[in-house]
Amino acid sequence: MSKCMNGNESMKEMIFSLLQKNRRNTFLKNMVELKCKCGFSEKITYYDFLSGGEFEIGQTIQTISPFISESIYDETIRVTPLNFSRNCPSCREEITGVFPISLENLIPMLQMQPPDPIMYG
Ligand SMILES: [Zn+2]
Repeated sequence: MSKCMNGNESMKEMIFSLLQKNRRNTFLKNMVELKCKCGFSEKITYYDFLSGGEFEIGQTIQTISPFISESIYDETIRVTPLNFSRNCPSCREEITGVFPISLENLIPMLQMQPPDPIMYG
């Protein structure tokens, strides 16, 4: 894999630092399922997935927003997939897939602060 992906690396750093700040965010307790063609499957939390860093930031694509209102005809949105690959612990083949949430949607969710009672203490 190419090593000259500085933009991607700094985006990853940003994700890691947001993870550290918001590790108690309930959103991060969602599970993502990794499925191998041999039948092996594993569920890990978003937090474990993202903090493990076993993903690459994919190519941003422009797509038509699925939320088109009557007044907007063709709003294009940017979608950057997070692609992951890891070796299957059962058959050693590579499991590849795409994280269910795009980078554009992930960042605002990580920035959402959970209610923190300590703040008022
Ligand atoms: Zn397998």
